[in-house]
Amino acid sequence: MPARTRFIPWALAFAQIIAVVLAPAAAQATDKPFNVLCTTFPLYQIARNVTQNRASLNLELMLPAQLGCPHDYALTPQDMHKLSRADVLIINGLGLEEFLGAPVRKANPRIQILDSSAGIKDILRYSHAEGHDHEGHADGHAGLNPHLFASPRMAARLTLTIAEGLGRIDPAGADLYARNAQAYAARLNALAEEMRSLGRTLANTRIVTQHGAFDYLARDMGLQVVGVVSAHAGQPPSAAQTLALVQTIRRLKAGAVFTEPQYPARIAQTIAREAGIPAAVLDPVAGGPARAGLDYYEQAMRRNMATLKVTLGTR
Ligand SMILES: [Zn+2]
Repeated sequence: MPARTRFIPWALAFAQIIAVVLAPAAAQATDKPFNVLCTTFPLYQIARNVTQNRASLNLELMLPAQLGCPHDYALTPQDMHKLSRADVLIINGLGLEEFLGAPVRKANPRIQILDSSAGIKDILRYSHAEGHDHEGHADGHAGLNPHLFASPRMAARLTLTIAEGLGRIDPAGADLYARNAQAYAARLNALAEEMRSLGRTLANTRIVTQHGAFDYLARDMGLQVVGVVSAHAGQPPSAAQTLALVQTIRRLKAGAVFTEPQYPARIAQTIAREAGIPAAVLDPVAGGPARAGLDYYEQAMRRNMATLKVTLGTR
């Protein structure tokens, strides 16, 4: 049957064309595994919520969970290894990851970088940036405050940006990411609303913080950060700066000095005692336990609400 033998190669060729045409859709349908790396703990917690039930996505945290703000961080060989096997790197942006740069592309030229703060317009500058390390850096973010994550309202925006970015990279998961993000962002916005209401009832709204981590939360709640213990996170203030801060607290009648779990509290406690006001721990959730629950951020913010109430008093 010569006609039939001639038909078979045609059928095979046709089948190959079909296979090529269908290939992209087929690859999506099989949900090829991909690796997403988050630089910091707060981004990792957001991404965990956004990517819930997406089995093909492997999510990993780059820096140690307990580290907190990575202002003085330097990349380790372990970080480079994580970078080398990641398809996507989710970053905070705004100069928080000064440790990144050329080494990232060297470790992994094909990595896609998802900047969670991209497109956010109402970014604050550091309010107490005297001598801050961010000043003068050539990264285009000099003086911008990167601590969006410490505000539930801004964290909700980061959540939606991360979901959109992941949806573009992994279209088969886009609907799931969008649904998860809407639910989590709604919870964060409800929390932000509660914190705003609390702000209106506080007897004293003038605070001193360890470093510039709470500027966005203060904006949400109507609090004024009248001073910071260390203008460059992690570096102790000079004797002159300490004295000036005590005088500022007395002059402006600040209500409390807030320390952070990440930094030693001793100097802040001395300043508070000297000025005659309470000191307490307020957590920007820059870090947390390695096995944190999905609602760890909300729980930490509720502890912050209780602390603000007790230390600042209510009207
Ligand atoms: Zn910080």
